[in-house]
Amino acid sequence: MMVSLNADIIGHPPTIRQIICCPLFAQNKTTLRRAASRVRCTPMTTFEPTRHPHRRLNSLTGEWVQVSPHRLQRPWLGAVETLPPDHRPAHDPRCYLCPGNERAGGARNPAYADTFVFTNDFAAVLPDVPPAPDAPQHGPEQLLRAVAVPGTARVLCFSSRHDLTLAEMDDVGILKVVEMWVEQTLDLGRRYRWVQLFENKGEMMGSSNPHPHGQVWGIDALPNEPRKEDERQQAYWQREGRPLLVDYARLEAERGERVVLENDDWLIVVPFWAIWPFETLLLPRRHVSRLPDLTGGERRSLAAILKRLLTRYDNLFSAPFPYSMGWHGAPFGSEPAAHWQLHAHFLPPLLRSATIRKFMVGYELLGEPQRDLTAEQAAERLRALSDTHYQHL
Ligand SMILES: [Zn+2]
Ligand SMILES: [Zn+2]
Repeated sequence: MMVSLNADIIGHPPTIRQIICCPLFAQNKTTLRRAASRVRCTPMTTFEPTRHPHRRLNSLTGEWVQVSPHRLQRPWLGAVETLPPDHRPAHDPRCYLCPGNERAGGARNPAYADTFVFTNDFAAVLPDVPPAPDAPQHGPEQLLRAVAVPGTARVLCFSSRHDLTLAEMDDVGILKVVEMWVEQTLDLGRRYRWVQLFENKGEMMGSSNPHPHGQVWGIDALPNEPRKEDERQQAYWQREGRPLLVDYARLEAERGERVVLENDDWLIVVPFWAIWPFETLLLPRRHVSRLPDLTGGERRSLAAILKRLLTRYDNLFSAPFPYSMGWHGAPFGSEPAAHWQLHAHFLPPLLRSATIRKFMVGYELLGEPQRDLTAEQAAERLRALSDTHYQHL
């Protein structure tokens, strides 16, 4: 009996729960204790990233993520639910983003045909803010430091159709969204150091209105995430003489195991250091610092690959896939931008079904993020999905 257990441990190590549940051992507690102790003592002589817990460095931010692939052997007891079909009208008279409707602030939307931009009626940042007094450099009062930050926040309607999502729009419609992102970057980049384009999709991500829309904030500061990325890209540029993310895209294209989609101009990978189960990183193949630097051809191929990615996301659990996505281009201002490579992050929370999400809690809030599914396994699942939307199959 011990010989067969030993062979099983070497070939396919069972979890303690699997041994406990095995009827072969259920009648013999002494054997069970020995088996459990043998599993604990099995030496891990050769590191295997698909079996052994490890940490991965996010080379773009300098932060680490804990990867625990052995936990995928845990039995899952939670429910796997699907969502009821969503029957939204093409125009909703109660929606404050639909053409011709009145917004909460009293303004009325024009009868727009495709895209539409307006300054958020309840913006989190404002253009006219008086300067805050400087905190002293020494003494306890230095611990209470605040700076005034001027900015503006706009709402970007992707379509006049209330019932669509970016995934369900055609390439021509998505290209208009790309052109809107370019125009907003140019406009706000003249006045603000940082331009943040983003979309929160789905109630799970806090989006209260299903009308397809995103936001853009212009802000006179470099926020935390781009600041970390700026420092890491600058350091790599000085050390290697090439942009970090251009080297990274080439490496991922060669390796292939984390690639989800690619075309002549773009590459989409589940990054080596991904935190969210099906997180992806969208990268241009050539060195591009900001969205307005893209050629006409690159904008069209961007719309095409976005359509394919978002279709696959919806197909993963046969449901509209919630996410936060956003663009990171070089900061504006007097500093050089050669070290920056334009990219977009897609950060979706779903883990196992349309309703079962990953939470950032406990160790992740107090230590560092952790994931079970490896980036390579997530990329394989996304790669295997169809380019045809599940609602049209
Ligand atoms: Zn609407
Ligand atoms: Zn980034």
